Amino acid sequence: MSDSLHPDAPPTVPIEDQRIARLLTWLSLMAILFLLGIGAKAWYANHHTHAWVLWAFALPIVVNMAWFAGTGNRAAQKGGLITTVGLLFVYLMASGGESNTGPLWFYVFPPLLFYLTNLKTGTAILLFCYLIAVVVFQNPDLPLVAAEYSTDFKIRFFATLTFESLFCFVLEASRLKARHELVELARTHEQAARTDELTALANRRDMQYRLNAEFSRYQRAGHHFSIVLIDLDLFKTINDRFGHDAGDEVLKAFAELMQRVIRETDIAARWGGEEFLVLLPDTSLLQALVLAERLRAEVARTEFVFHDQRLPVSISAGVCSIAKSGSINDLLKQADTHLYSAKEAGRNRIAPRVRSLDEAADRDTTPRP
Ligand code: GH3
Ligand code: MG
Ligand code: MG
Repeated sequence: MSDSLHPDAPPTVPIEDQRIARLLTWLSLMAILFLLGIGAKAWYANHHTHAWVLWAFALPIVVNMAWFAGTGNRAAQKGGLITTVGLLFVYLMASGGESNTGPLWFYVFPPLLFYLTNLKTGTAILLFCYLIAVVVFQNPDLPLVAAEYSTDFKIRFFATLTFESLFCFVLEASRLKARHELVELARTHEQAARTDELTALANRRDMQYRLNAEFSRYQRAGHHFSIVLIDLDLFKTINDRFGHDAGDEVLKAFAELMQRVIRETDIAARWGGEEFLVLLPDTSLLQALVLAERLRAEVARTEFVFHDQRLPVSISAGVCSIAKSGSINDLLKQADTHLYSAKEAGRNRIAPRVRSLDEAADRDTTPRP
């Protein structure tokens, strides 16, 4: 049976990406407002050049937002904002901003970086920024560097920034770990909710979902499919004669045997009690009858043994194709009717009986599509 991720599985990563994109849009808007506001304040304090530079920094942020609105490229949105903000902080450090308070804005960077990138990239970018900060602090004579900071300030700035960065790193690492554990937990629960505990096959709920999905595919694209409803014969007798544990072992062994006989794309489920349902995508009624007959013969041929006692196991099955029914309910009802007639006809058989089945079974040596 195919083990691909179920369509019901929680789509965690795209939702997180969407949330980050929304947050970035709000952060960009806030950054623009701050730049315009602080720029205006600098203008009225007669720091005209500083005001113009701050206003100029709003431009790439606006362009980044417009680019994202046009293309929806989240990676470019992140990269654009991190680069602009990084350059802005370097400028604030080099110019000193107003009254040499520019470097204080740098404290915004570590949490933002770790949230927007992964831990490795965040650390690399942060180390690079540290390097630039050291160069700027130690070389006030460099072109474009206008601020000079006291040794006390520099020591405290680096000490507190390092403390903050480490703290952000640890917090982000534990956030990611908790998120990963939560996703795993949701996946395990989701898997358990659609699996039969005894046989590890899909359960009825999951099969119902898959039948509906296959029916939609049939309505959309005309892909035919068939089902085989299987019931173990006189199972109550096995329980009564050999015990409930023996019955459980038979159910498990039959589930394993069935998995071996069907194709990868077929889906087998425990429909309830000692009843099983197999969904055969892209399969005609005749092909489904051939498979059911092969399964019946394999069960009849197999020795089911429990505590050295051989158990009399056989199956009956009703087969139906969607071409012969108008809805999933109708399909199930018809398969059930066929199963009933197989039981009536003496068990250990498949219904409906078609004349060409034996011939088809002989010819059916190649794998079906
Ligand atoms: P038929 O050939 O007409 O289907 O006869 P049957 O005995 O198989 O049918 P019936 O419906 O009378 O009995 C089904 C039995 O399956 C009764 C129930 O106790 C047993 N059964 C259902 N689920 C389980 C299970 O999980 N484990 C065991 N051991 N037995 C189960
Ligand atoms: Mg039954
Ligand atoms: Mg039965």
